[in-house]
Amino acid sequence: MSGTELRNISFHGIGTPEGSEREPGEHRYWVTEAAFLDVLDECAKHPHVRLSFDDGNASDVAIGLPALVERGLKADFFPIADRIGTPGNVDEAGLRALIDAGMTVGTHGAGHRPWTSALATHHEAELRAARERIAAATGRPVDTAACPFGAYDRGVLKALRAAGYRTVFTSDARPAREGSWLQPRYSVETDDTAASVRTRMLAPRSAAERVVDRGVLMVKAWR
Ligand SMILES: [Zn+2]
Repeated sequence: MSGTELRNISFHGIGTPEGSEREPGEHRYWVTEAAFLDVLDECAKHPHVRLSFDDGNASDVAIGLPALVERGLKADFFPIADRIGTPGNVDEAGLRALIDAGMTVGTHGAGHRPWTSALATHHEAELRAARERIAAATGRPVDTAACPFGAYDRGVLKALRAAGYRTVFTSDARPAREGSWLQPRYSVETDDTAASVRTRMLAPRSAAERVVDRGVLMVKAWR
């Protein structure tokens, strides 16, 4: 019934961000290239880790892609549709390079708005037009989504189910089950190291932690 336990690890920008934050707190999720490579090497040691990259920064292709290829790793990428081809962000050629290397590309919405509030006014743009824009760029259907800012509630999940997404990624820092529709992820932060990611997300969970994990996910999905 339930598949293998997975640990989903997500990255954002790699290197030094140019300019000011595009939204408050953004820079907290940028990591140096050295830290990124250390965390990636740590992830590569664990058999049930799934990697992803949010926000479609240009570093996905410039730094992330070659590091993955070098290690024989695959990842899911979630660009922001309205930013494709704009300065500092991945362009269409970059998205095709990801596909050609065997990566998958899903959607992170149109304008990086939290879907908990944005779907009321931008449902069409966020869930349909963004998906079509990314599919047109990659030449592949888009059937996975990552919630911007990890924000979701019952209404968001219902809308994503109705839109036919096959898998939905959040940022709840809890283990996931392979094959589950909803996939919690751990977002790597600026101060993370290989050791901290191992402790926070890759180490075996205690029985007490598992009870909390289940409870948190259940409450979040039913709000
Ligand atoms: Zn994001």
